[in-house]
Parts: sequence; C-alpha cells; structure tokens
Amino acid sequence: MSKRDYYDVLGIKKGASAEEIKKAYRQKAKELHPDRNADNPEAESQFKEANEAYEVLKDADKKAAYDRFGHSAFEGGMGGGGGRPGGGFGGGQGDFASAFSDVFDDLFGDFMGGGRGGRSRAARGADLRYNLRVTLEEAYGGLQKTITVPTSVQCGSCSGSGSEGGAEPTTCPTCSGMGKVRATQGFFTVERTCPTCSGLGQIIKNPCSTCGGNGRVQKERALSVNIPAGVETGTRIRLAGEGEAGMRGGPPGDLYIFIEVTPHKIFERDGTELHCRVPVSMTAAALGGDIEVPTIDGGRSRVKIPAGSQSGRQMRLRGKGMPALRGGTAGDMFIELAVETPVNLTTKQKELLREFEALSEDNNPESKSFFSSVKSFWDSMKG
Ligand SMILES: [Zn+2]
Ligand SMILES: [Zn+2]
Repeated sequence: MSKRDYYDVLGIKKGASAEEIKKAYRQKAKELHPDRNADNPEAESQFKEANEAYEVLKDADKKAAYDRFGHSAFEGGMGGGGGRPGGGFGGGQGDFASAFSDVFDDLFGDFMGGGRGGRSRAARGADLRYNLRVTLEEAYGGLQKTITVPTSVQCGSCSGSGSEGGAEPTTCPTCSGMGKVRATQGFFTVERTCPTCSGLGQIIKNPCSTCGGNGRVQKERALSVNIPAGVETGTRIRLAGEGEAGMRGGPPGDLYIFIEVTPHKIFERDGTELHCRVPVSMTAAALGGDIEVPTIDGGRSRVKIPAGSQSGRQMRLRGKGMPALRGGTAGDMFIELAVETPVNLTTKQKELLREFEALSEDNNPESKSFFSSVKSFWDSMKG
C-alpha cells in the first residue's frame, strides 16, 4: 500500500503555515479521540497516520526534506527512524501511546485544565481584588487605611496541614505523590489529575474537624494598607501573599487593591496637574488685584490678577498640583479666571456704569479720574 501524502492526511494545502498545520492536526486528534471512536477500529490507524504526518510537517527541517523528496526523504533511516526501512516517525505499536502522550501534552495541555505544573497551581491560594475609593485630598497626601477583606486564612487547629492534630499527611497511594495518573483509553494514554488527592499528591487520614481537611477557614481579615501619595483611578497596589491561603499549607495568593479617586468639587485632575475655575469680579479683572484660591493641601494661595485680565485667562501655580506617584516633581495647579458680570445693581451703580460707558466711548482723558472713583466705589461696596 502506498503512503498517503502528509498534506492530504491532515487535509491542508502544501505551503500551509506552521499554525495551520498545528490547527489541522489538533482538529484531527480531536476527531479521532477514543471517546468519540469507541466503535471505530479505523481511528487508531488514522490517528497514527496523522501523527506521523504532523511529526514531519511541524519540524521545519523535516518538512523541507519532505517537500523536496516526498516520502523517500525518510526511507533508509534518514529521519531518525533508527535504520528501520520505512519506519517513519510513528514508531512501533508499543511506543505509540507514549509518543502520543508527549504530543498530547504539547497540544492539549491548555484545555485539559492544568497540564504541567498543575500540582502547585492547585495548592496556591487565589488572588483577591479589593476596590478602594479615596478622595482627591487622600490621593494627594497618601494615607494609611485599615481594610476588612473576606478571605480564607490558614486553619489554626491544624496549622494549615488539614490533618487532625497536625499529623503529617501521607503520600497518596493512587498516584504515589505525583498528583497525576496515567489512564489508558483504547490506544491513548492520557494524564489526568489524580482523583484521590485532587492533584495534591498527599492524602489525609484524619481530616481536621475545623477546616474539613483543606487547611484553611473563611475569615474576615483586617489589613492595614499604605496608600502612597499620588495614586489615581486605575492605580493597582499589589500586596504579595495577602490573598487567600493556599490549600493545605500551599502558598497564599496576592491581594490587589484597585484605587478609584472620587471626583472633586473644585479641582479637575489631569495626571499630576490640577485645574480649577476661579470667579473674579469685573472690577478686579479690569483693575487688577489679589485673590485667594484654595489649594489641594488644604491651604490657600494668593494670586496676583493683572489689570485687564479677560475671562478664561489661565494662571499657573507651580508645584501646587498632585505629587508624582513614583517620585519626581509635583505637578502644577492651573486656575482659569471666570470674570463675573455684576447683577442686581443699585440706581447709583447703574448711573456710574452709564457714565463709565459714555467715557469709554469718548475715550476722554478724564476717564483716569473716573476709574479711580469707580474703584473706590467698588472697594467700599466690598467692605
Ligand atoms: Zn493522588
Ligand atoms: Zn484544619
């Protein structure tokens, strides 16, 4: 019987990419899985064929040789078949299962729930997320905060071992401590998590009555956390080892604190910059003067308004913004002037403004003295 073309076997075109080859092989392996092929004796030989094709096509050198010379490239032991004529790569019946097992790990490790390293992963505690809201003032100064986290902690009765009285667990007899068992299904050998010990490799003869044998108990835990100055919404603080306790004394997970900074009444934040609008009287904007503005540190800063300032004018207060989270210079604070038009004018005020208007139109040199009378009037109004 002549050998089928490897590309035909996998149902792909010559020149298929490595990804396509792997995908096609994976698809074949699924189709030919013994769970689906209990009554199909053909499945084994079909799988062997697909396996052999994949062994060659996944390897760039072998693939190149096959593309040039076809099957003859591997006859006479060239491809590592040990000199067996026409031996190919599938090997004999005996080592087929173990050959498959390696491929299986490679291809299916991700959806078999675990795969390599499953043992330590099963025992490590889960990571926890804690959402913490802080005010802008708190984000400015940093803070120490005690938070209560519902978590699972190491059981005190058995010190996390899961054994009554703290006795050492014994090696699981089913898997001899490997945490995995090899099961043969038809012509497949599959590694599975040990059902006796759930992959832990150890069993407990007398489970602890407090924790039922898993070595941890549910508890609300109070933690004092240090929130550094400069945090912003989206900042994530990792507290290594403060997550859930591991199974039976396994390593704990981590706790992640996700920061959310609540909006501020006055300030808008942009990184380390702070922005705010400050109302200024029409006269102060026209004549110039000093104003006081609140700052995020709880204090106030005096700002000089130049005469003739228009609404929307921006002024910078250096270093009065937010601190930088990872050190460095603090940001600046920007104020934007919002000139207010006076309302509810008295008769006298209206008169003065009309006079002012007339003078402005005339551009009369007397306007100078008029300005000073307006200024003294406004000053007296402000008290
Ligand atoms: Zn076991
Ligand atoms: Zn216990």
